[in-house]
Amino acid sequence: NMEFADRVQRVEPSATLAISNLSSELEAEGIDVVDLSVGEPDFPTPENIVEAGKAAMDAGHTGYTSSNGIPELREALADKFTGQGIDADADEIIVTPGGKQGLYEAVTTLIDDGDEVVLLDPAWVSYEAMVKLSGGSLNRVDLSPYDFQLEPGLDDLADAVSDETELLVVNSPSNPTGAVYSDAALEGVRDLAVEHEFVVISDEIYERITYGVEQTALGSLDGMEDRTITLNGFSKAFSMTGWRLGYIHAPEDLIDQASKLHSHSVSCAVNFVQRAGLEALSERTDDSVVEMREAFRERRDMLADLFAEHGVDVPVGDGAFYMMLPVDDDDQTWCEEAIQDAHVATVPGSAFGAPGYARISYAASEARLREAVDRLSEGGFL
Ligand code: PLP
Repeated sequence: NMEFADRVQRVEPSATLAISNLSSELEAEGIDVVDLSVGEPDFPTPENIVEAGKAAMDAGHTGYTSSNGIPELREALADKFTGQGIDADADEIIVTPGGKQGLYEAVTTLIDDGDEVVLLDPAWVSYEAMVKLSGGSLNRVDLSPYDFQLEPGLDDLADAVSDETELLVVNSPSNPTGAVYSDAALEGVRDLAVEHEFVVISDEIYERITYGVEQTALGSLDGMEDRTITLNGFSKAFSMTGWRLGYIHAPEDLIDQASKLHSHSVSCAVNFVQRAGLEALSERTDDSVVEMREAFRERRDMLADLFAEHGVDVPVGDGAFYMMLPVDDDDQTWCEEAIQDAHVATVPGSAFGAPGYARISYAASEARLREAVDRLSEGGFL
């Protein structure tokens, strides 16, 4: 009999699995399920990016690249960061196969057994898993009482952190709430990080998907240059989830450590994908980004209005493509029944540390969103 490592065994299988299994079973029976559980844009990757990927393959860019990524892409990313007010150098960037891998490398590089990591709930599911894999101890601050905004919750955060805190993870715009944190909130984070000398991972993967507000890069704030790891990627902004391309920026000494992990595990991100990423960053993609963003905004507004018509007041964020629908306390059962009886798939809020909600992704057509609300309403779920 095999003995499995504790650090893997202490991670729970994803709570979203139950939902996607149920969904697959129903679909195998020929039932049409409105799937609002997935966290990916429902648009094709913009044509110019696809063409650049094909051209790179044809040109023979199919071998390994330098481990931290091709210099052209790292230079372009450094320029992008500089435009956001982060004084970045190409040597402070690792290009990763997906932002998730960048996050994993950052957490693994920083966290030893027992190190305290603070999360702001509701928080994306993988933060908890990665901290557990590293042996860190979790300290969670609940932002649900504040409509998921950080600014009114700063006192709670101040109470939670101490000199023992090693790391805080901030995700704005947020998955699963869509909240975009105010500058005052980010300055509050900065003040606490400086006072207690902890590091902050700023997950800015939804940076380009905001509605009428601008996302401030945490690493651009005075005092944060040496204590911020900025995580970003191509999946959401450019509808490139399956290409697997992301990146981290951090002080060079951290990058030197993390790149050992990177080179001994993944070696490098896919060569021609990195070249497609270079194209994605060009202004030729700007129109596509704006089009997708506008579509998401219209769907968000439509969906919030539909719920309001049914008497359900949903806190609406200014970014990403998620909202948290208030449901029964037992959100796991609510979600299972909603999929079984109404054939609408959502993710239980408890998976994100926010019981009593269901996460809805509105990266779906307006017709499917209407259908979902109709079904939930007819099934008595609203
Ligand atoms: N961070 C957040 C908050 C996410 O929602 C996701 C994807 O769902 C990621 C990071 C990682 O995305 P990827 O690995 O596709 O770059």
